[in-house]
Amino acid sequence: MKPDRIDRAHNLIARGLVTAMGPNCWHVQSDRHNIGYQVTADGCLCYDYTETLKGQSPCKHILASEGATVVEAVVAMRAVSTVDELYRVGQSHADAIRTTPALYQAIARAEFVRLRAALRAGYRRAA
Ligand SMILES: [Zn+2]
Repeated sequence: MKPDRIDRAHNLIARGLVTAMGPNCWHVQSDRHNIGYQVTADGCLCYDYTETLKGQSPCKHILASEGATVVEAVVAMRAVSTVDELYRVGQSHADAIRTTPALYQAIARAEFVRLRAALRAGYRRAA
């Protein structure tokens, strides 16, 4: 599967490019350009968020900061190869996911359902 915003957000986290600046405020360094983005409750000023997504869903910078808990959970769920394993990994992240805003809970839930369907359909790796 082509890397999506979750994968790209995970890459930003893994590379240490996300810095908490205060409550609901992060600095996210671009992985491609010599520029950083400030993520706040108002969103992000990157082109993807403001133009492509029109502020309707989170860009990779928002996912990597405010949505980091769910990004980590989704990446872990994508690494499993059986439905049982998916339930185990999903359960191990459930408490943390429940502390996140509804938007991120919905992302995690949708990914769980998608992966479960793919695994049941016989794909060895759902992602
Ligand atoms: Zn952004």
